[in-house]
Amino acid sequence: MSRLDQTNKGPESLVREEIRALTAYHVAPAQGMVKLDAMENPYRLPAELAARMGERLADVAVNRYPDPSGAALKARLRETMRIDPALDLLLGNGSDEILQIVSLALAKPGASVLSLEPSFVMYRLAAVAAGMRYVGLALTPDFTLDARALQEAIERERPVLTWIAYPNNPTGNLFPRDAILEAVRASPGLVAVDEAYYAFSGGASLLDEVGRHPNLLLVRTVSKLGLAGLRLGVAIGAREWIHELEKLRMPYNVNVLSAAAADLLLEHREVFERQTAAIVAERARIEDALDAMPGARRFPSAANFVLVRVPDAPRAFEALKRRGILVRTFHGSHPLLAHCLRLTVGTPDENTRMLEALAPALA
Ligand code: PMP
Repeated sequence: MSRLDQTNKGPESLVREEIRALTAYHVAPAQGMVKLDAMENPYRLPAELAARMGERLADVAVNRYPDPSGAALKARLRETMRIDPALDLLLGNGSDEILQIVSLALAKPGASVLSLEPSFVMYRLAAVAAGMRYVGLALTPDFTLDARALQEAIERERPVLTWIAYPNNPTGNLFPRDAILEAVRASPGLVAVDEAYYAFSGGASLLDEVGRHPNLLLVRTVSKLGLAGLRLGVAIGAREWIHELEKLRMPYNVNVLSAAAADLLLEHREVFERQTAAIVAERARIEDALDAMPGARRFPSAANFVLVRVPDAPRAFEALKRRGILVRTFHGSHPLLAHCLRLTVGTPDENTRMLEALAPALA
């Protein structure tokens, strides 16, 4: 027993039990690896744009706090995402922070949060951290949404908050739009639709529904678009919702360098549109290659990754790793994800290397 424990003043006795039971979000070391584990855009900025960003950042007054209203950045996001002027925006340090703010705002004593499983693990983490009860509703074995089961879960649990990732992570699919809207109508609580992978969804979005329902909030991020390092996410909702959520946002959560970089870079939307189009084309090539690979069963994706079930995921994961390729294994994380690997779409060369290493690992 450590000295900390003996005093009864250490984390063993002081940290809330449900927090001690959590596992911190895992990020694998990736030094020198082909990094296909975190749904990043594999492309760097074009040199000229990177140079302009350098100039712009050199001009930033880092001695000053950020503009607490984020007005310029919000205007840029509105323009980039074509957001209805009647809606309001909440800026987050990544959409991760948005999840946390929304969870905190709704954490009434005894309240429950509903999410589908498997989905993004932060929904559960944020709910538990906020002191809420978390309920996970299992998807079907092919990861589709059982709309009836969702309705029943909403009636049974009366969740104050329901998370739906559209497209879903780590499965990559889009749930039927109608089923989501039915859930919004049936739900006594807020339904937050997380469109982190919107750039790859072929335009599938519920943005046009926001503001038409009293309890629908949309969450987006610039991370998957190619700006993961900036840490910038946004909630889009009716004024009344954003007004309340805004109270829980730390006043300077988006730093001056990120705000200035995002403002400049999003003005050049075409750069990211070209990159995301290349990623979508490569996704199709990976899907075709997996379809032709004995032993692999891949699931349809509307995101920048492909989920595939293989005969022995831990072995395939290690075989890829030995060849310098880092993917994500979900084996052991949820029963429906047995022997599943999630392959982030990389550059054509990275994808070729990944596919060449994967095929022999399935034998
Ligand atoms: N939502 C989903 C569904 C995600 O998969 C992720 C990142 N893996 C996020 C939100 C968080 O993204 P960020 O904090 O980079 O905006």
